[in-house]
Amino acid sequence: MLVSTPAIILHAFPYGDTSKIVRLATRDLGVQSVIAKGAVRPKSPFGARLQAMSEGTAHLYHRSHRDLQTLSAFDVTNQHASLAAEMRRYAAAAALAELVLRFAHEEPQPVVYDGLAGALAALSEVPSEAVPYAALAALWHEIVLLGFAPTVDACVRCRGTLADRTPFSLAEGGLLCARCGRGAGGGALRGDDRAALHAFAAGRWDAPPLPAPHLAAHRRLLVRFIQRHVADDRAMPALAFWEGLT
Ligand SMILES: [Zn+2]
Repeated sequence: MLVSTPAIILHAFPYGDTSKIVRLATRDLGVQSVIAKGAVRPKSPFGARLQAMSEGTAHLYHRSHRDLQTLSAFDVTNQHASLAAEMRRYAAAAALAELVLRFAHEEPQPVVYDGLAGALAALSEVPSEAVPYAALAALWHEIVLLGFAPTVDACVRCRGTLADRTPFSLAEGGLLCARCGRGAGGGALRGDDRAALHAFAAGRWDAPPLPAPHLAAHRRLLVRFIQRHVADDRAMPALAFWEGLT
């Protein structure tokens, strides 16, 4: 069955002498692996379209219960070229692509797809000074859409009201109230940092400006949350690379 669906290329690599394997996030079929036969031949109709982060319409021959589908054509609507022009933008997009590749399903998850598309647009378009915020918002919000939301609006343990200074319990996956957080190790989030975490989880990057060490702490918290709650401690190289960039 020939299916046409909005799609974003998460990863593409050569296969054999003339073909490419492409991992696609699709709106209608979830994450799919497709083969683009002849894609690296000079006169291939695919041309140079099959690049990571390219967004468009994929036309593919789809059979359920088959691991590798066949890509018939890919019409690019947005190549997100500005991502490739700045390392911080590209690293964040690559970490986001890695997250979707690992944890999205083969079943349709339109909200996961739309979150990815919206985040790539934001990472492409926000002014340079907003990139660290757009990156945190992109990743936290996609985690929420994938079903691993952190608890940021009440105490994760007792649902009580949060005080001004609130520890984040990595084990429990959310913020703790004053009573539950008594004696909790690790850093506490206060004021602007808590507002920022709230904004990021909702996919908003209009957080109050934070000093660089606070942004680094937010990146560290996000990566540790993913390792613990999403990735089961499996390596996520693109995410680790993004965390290390300043
Ligand atoms: Zn509590």
